[in-house]
Amino acid sequence: MRKKVLKFGGSSVANASQLAKLKNIVMADPGNRYVVVSAPGKRFSSDSKVTDLLYLCKSQIDNNIPYEELFRMICSRYEDSVQALELDIDMTPYYEEIAAVLAAGSKAAAEGGADAANRVGCTADYVASRGEYLSAILTAAYLGYDFVDTAGLVLFDAKGRLLTEETYAALAGELARHEKAVIPGFYGTIQGTDRIKVFSRGGSDVTGSVVARAINADIYENWTDVSGMLMADPRIVPNPKPIDRISYLELRELSYMGATVLHEDAVFPAREADIPINIRNTNVPADPGTVIDNNYNGEDGKVISGIAGSRDFTVIAVHKNMMNKELGFVRKALQILEDYEVNFDHIPTGIDTLSVVIETKEIEGKLDDIVWEFRKQLKADEIKVIMNISLIAVVGKGMSGRIGTSARILTALAKAGINVRMINQGSSEINVIIAVETPDFENAVRVIYNEFA
Ligand code: ASP
Repeated sequence: MRKKVLKFGGSSVANASQLAKLKNIVMADPGNRYVVVSAPGKRFSSDSKVTDLLYLCKSQIDNNIPYEELFRMICSRYEDSVQALELDIDMTPYYEEIAAVLAAGSKAAAEGGADAANRVGCTADYVASRGEYLSAILTAAYLGYDFVDTAGLVLFDAKGRLLTEETYAALAGELARHEKAVIPGFYGTIQGTDRIKVFSRGGSDVTGSVVARAINADIYENWTDVSGMLMADPRIVPNPKPIDRISYLELRELSYMGATVLHEDAVFPAREADIPINIRNTNVPADPGTVIDNNYNGEDGKVISGIAGSRDFTVIAVHKNMMNKELGFVRKALQILEDYEVNFDHIPTGIDTLSVVIETKEIEGKLDDIVWEFRKQLKADEIKVIMNISLIAVVGKGMSGRIGTSARILTALAKAGINVRMINQGSSEINVIIAVETPDFENAVRVIYNEFA
């Protein structure tokens, strides 16, 4: 029997009918012993996520605005499910326990503002975490599983960094005592204290991965509202093919370019222990979804796994005769960027040219000064700023060692009349980055997709 950890996102626990689907999925396999849940998400597109409502609640408390009605509304999200599923659980003591902290926070805030509320334990992290807390208690009651709180098990240091080894050990020790358990995602505590700390938004994915790593699961199933990853953005390419299998490296390249399906930090714990992550769709459980697997090497013959892209880059192109003979030239250029606290994405170089590709929002308000410094310090012959550049990442383990992939990309783009402003191939040969002018972006993605799909 395979040991599995299943994580269900906000839409999968949003209401009674979603929870019924969750139950069917969990009960289908006795190996489904550990279930991690998010707070209830949106039930329809104009709905609010419980986590957003909780953050709003905290901000009302800090600003001395009545919050009680809002908190009642949050509780009713859970109560609706309890009633509809006819659960044999009284959630009132849990609502009251939270209400008491909110009331103390509100009283303190009236006297001493937000800091005072924080001092009595009514912090934003505490309030936000209650979404997952209540969700896990309710789901545990529905499944007949134990509720295992992550407070005291998922541990952070005083600076808010996850203490991985301590967390794995604490979770493994506790879960060994529970045959089956529901675990809240998103939060833990600062080690040695009872102060709640949350991950960044979407962090229940990380909890799922950490739990999978702690119990050395065979697979981490991440249940959401899409059937895994698609080869390209469906807003650009009509009906793109799904990605069945992908390696962690490829996922990283695609996510970096905006194809997000998991919280970035969710990858590391599972990857370290070679645990595959399967992205599945709660609404279409028959779909196999995407498996993210360290051991995938493109053996299914696919050349590319996916295409992702991002708009709004700026290129600063520097030209200087004999640049390649000038010691320290690139270092000086990068030093200028560092001085202005600007991250760059790529720096393709030629013998007399250096281009720096930067996300436009990184250099807003700084561009003129940087160009001025480049001119002064690098004594360049020419500096050109090219705005409105988009980058497209073509990613695939299958490209590695295969001759002619870049040629195919470039030929297809040339045939479509699209000018390529820059091309960069990573040394791992699993990604080719193409820069095009933004008006050509969507067409370029479609052309590349059609060439390989
Ligand atoms: N509920 C949290 C959020 O909305 C965490 C999560 O769902 O993963 O960000």
